[in-house]
Amino acid sequence: MERTLVLIKPDGVARNIIGEVITRIERRGLKIVAMDLRTLDADTAKTHYEEHAQRPFFDSLVEFITGGPLVAMVVEGERAVEAFRALAGATDPVSAAPGTIRGDFALEVQQNIVHGSDSTYSAEREIKLFFPDLAA
Ligand code: ATP
Repeated sequence: MERTLVLIKPDGVARNIIGEVITRIERRGLKIVAMDLRTLDADTAKTHYEEHAQRPFFDSLVEFITGGPLVAMVVEGERAVEAFRALAGATDPVSAAPGTIRGDFALEVQQNIVHGSDSTYSAEREIKLFFPDLAA
């Protein structure tokens, strides 16, 4: 069964919508197979976002994602990568459809509540980074 890495970013945790996000994941039929509340260190954050290292917002993104606790989880199900990204909505919340997590709860591109792996390849890499002990 396909797996994806989902983060409820520090803005989502600070706004007390962990339950709301989890409810949407479970209601869709996806299964949470690992979950942890933690604060990321800068090295892990930089590795997670390494594809954005040259982007002007990189330092700010690392500061944001390490700025408070987040919830990391491994979510499993039929086409889980695509299914969660559909639940999350467009990266820029202003363009995200109402009814999606970002479309319902966010307005700013950086503070967009959730992360979901963008491919099965990224999912494998990210799950190893966040949950190295989880069996494949
Ligand atoms: P994620 O990887 O978090 O699921 P995504 O794949 O929808 O998001 P990416 O383009 O990979 O979006 O960007 C990663 C994250 O970087 C975004 O979720 C957002 O928090 C932040 N980000 C993207 N573009 C900008 C920007 N122009 N300014 C500030 N932050 C940004």
